Amino acid sequence: MTKPTFTACGKNKLILVAGAGGFIGGALVRYLKDKGFTRIRAVDRKPLPEWYQRIAGVECLSLDLSKEASCTRAVEDAVEVYNLAADMGGMGFIERFRVMCLRSILINTHLLEAAYRAGVERYFYASSACAYNTKLQDDPHCRALKETDAYPAYAERGYGWEKLMSEMFCQEYTAERGMRTAIARFHNVYGPWGTWDGGREKAPAAMCRKVIEAREKGLDTLEIWGDGSQGRSFMYIDDCVLGIDKIMHCNELVATPINLGTSEMISINELATLAEELGGVKLKREFVLDAPKGVAGRNSDNTMIKRVLNWEPSIPIREGLKTTYQWIEGQYRDRKAGRKTVKDLL
Ligand code: NAD
Repeated sequence: MTKPTFTACGKNKLILVAGAGGFIGGALVRYLKDKGFTRIRAVDRKPLPEWYQRIAGVECLSLDLSKEASCTRAVEDAVEVYNLAADMGGMGFIERFRVMCLRSILINTHLLEAAYRAGVERYFYASSACAYNTKLQDDPHCRALKETDAYPAYAERGYGWEKLMSEMFCQEYTAERGMRTAIARFHNVYGPWGTWDGGREKAPAAMCRKVIEAREKGLDTLEIWGDGSQGRSFMYIDDCVLGIDKIMHCNELVATPINLGTSEMISINELATLAEELGGVKLKREFVLDAPKGVAGRNSDNTMIKRVLNWEPSIPIREGLKTTYQWIEGQYRDRKAGRKTVKDLL
């Protein structure tokens, strides 16, 4: 195994995080701040009070990055850009709102061009496992997906195709124009400070909320989308931000899409059992067979990330879900008591 080489960014250089009012962007800003970066610009379309996290000492701007002028403003003086901005959500959202998902291509297209014009040194793009060929995912126990499985292309309609096209934009900006881009294909990220209700939440947060709700309201059923046999791997947010940092600065991974996920696949039924254990309840399962359920099975093949980075996300779902459950329970109780559920740290 050859050792990877990394090019670090100076702590006083300006870093832009796009989508910073969301789950992963917010966590990344916190991570970079804790690491000692002094000039972070956080941008999101949402009005500031709606951001999941706002970190003291960070420049926070509310801008719509699907517009060219906003991107030009956002990248001013930036040396590194992390693009975590997209219209996205769990299966319920991405199966229903394909146009909205596809329109996120405007964000990456304008931001990439603006970054190139501004002389940005490194650009990160948050891709997804939804970019993979869905025909390879029609069995709950199908083999894990490796990076080459994106082609021949048969991505998730809407959301997945947007990811695949935006990956290509990044790769060509490197090949033709010399800007260093980094592309990670995330597999189901979860953790505190993520969406936990309202229709955009993903399975781990939804499962925790449903169990908490059942406990609070004295219900004895748990609704599961599909028959619960769908297989997935889930990556805790701390592994995700660390992986983003590693991939962004690894010289061997320029313009090279790479899986960022755990290879611990569990079924949705097993996820439900974990959430029940955390809540100390056993509920009757109600399977909604015509609900959006996505592909039958999807897991991350981590051969490449282990080979190149000598690292892979490893926080077990049992551990990460506990923290997530406790956080959602706190949010649920705050909301019930009429308190704000979006923490404003400024
Ligand atoms: P999120 O919805 O919590 O955050 C995305 C943020 O982008 C939101 O705050 C939203 O307001 C912002 N945004 C949307 N349109 C914008 C625009 N035009 N201008 C500026 N901001 C805009 O989602 P997340 O889970 O943090 O995901 C971050 C990135 O990672 C996305 O690109 C997503 O597709 C990708 N991803 C996430 C997961 C996951 O499991 N969470 C999995 C695969 C890929």
